[in-house]
Amino acid sequence: MPVSDQAFVTLATNDIYCQGALVLGQSLRNHRATRRLVVLVTPQVSSLLRVILSRVFDEVLEVKQLDSADDVHLAFLKRPELGVTLTKLHCWTLTHYSKCVFLDADTLVLANIDELFDRTEFSAAPDPGWPDCFNSGVFVFQPSLETHGLLLRHAADHGSFDGADQGLLNSFFSSWSTADIHKHLPFIYNLSSNTAYTYGPAFRQFGSRAKVVHFLGSRKPWHYTYNPETGSVCTDGAGALSQHQASFLNLWWKTFHRGVLPLYETVLEEGEQT
Ligand code: UDP
Ligand code: MN
Repeated sequence: MPVSDQAFVTLATNDIYCQGALVLGQSLRNHRATRRLVVLVTPQVSSLLRVILSRVFDEVLEVKQLDSADDVHLAFLKRPELGVTLTKLHCWTLTHYSKCVFLDADTLVLANIDELFDRTEFSAAPDPGWPDCFNSGVFVFQPSLETHGLLLRHAADHGSFDGADQGLLNSFFSSWSTADIHKHLPFIYNLSSNTAYTYGPAFRQFGSRAKVVHFLGSRKPWHYTYNPETGSVCTDGAGALSQHQASFLNLWWKTFHRGVLPLYETVLEEGEQT
């Protein structure tokens, strides 16, 4: 039975990140997610991409890049670099859901992850760079206007130690690393594809159990070129990719080719007919 008061949520503030959101959405569908799929978009996202998103997601919701509450708005004008960060915080306004799982648009689901809804706010996996901090690319949260307001206030008062949502959320949910082990998601729910793991035997032992891969960092899957005939990304000039990196990238592109490109084609054709 689908659960209609819980949702997987992602965010895209432009048409480029929409490609990631579409691949993520298709990967959730491919693995039979039983919760609603929601994508938050900002006004810059084109109407074409909104139509395509609506073929994959149950809800395409527009949010503002800056909150209109005057005091918060004023505080943020002094910290323009936090604009995109603030946008992610808008996921707490989805109060028509009782619980949600947020996934960055640069994540890809490899298996069914419905069991994440057994967790409570605020659950996340350790960051590979500093394991006492969580990585904010995958987290379980409970929508609440009160929490949303507190987060905005915290952002305006304290900023973010890394200039982005991860620093802000880590200082807001600061007891994460010590208070409750149930709020530590296993690392297989947010395995970064491009981290050179210094604990190789652990990666060999557990890496194949990964359920969510996260393409964190500046080089995203959509920056590569892909050869659909060989089913692999071109590595020319990109430096050597490790085997697991290459296979995750190839899977992202395969999902894009099979599940997302055909949507662009049908939506464009429908547009020509009308
Ligand atoms: N994001 C977006 N537009 C941007 C930058 C970020 O929509 O210009 C959203 C998107 O969902 C993305 C998330 O914010 O996955 C976090 O950014 P990113 O994944 O680039 O950060 P990283 O995981 O590499 O630290
Ligand atoms: Mn990310």
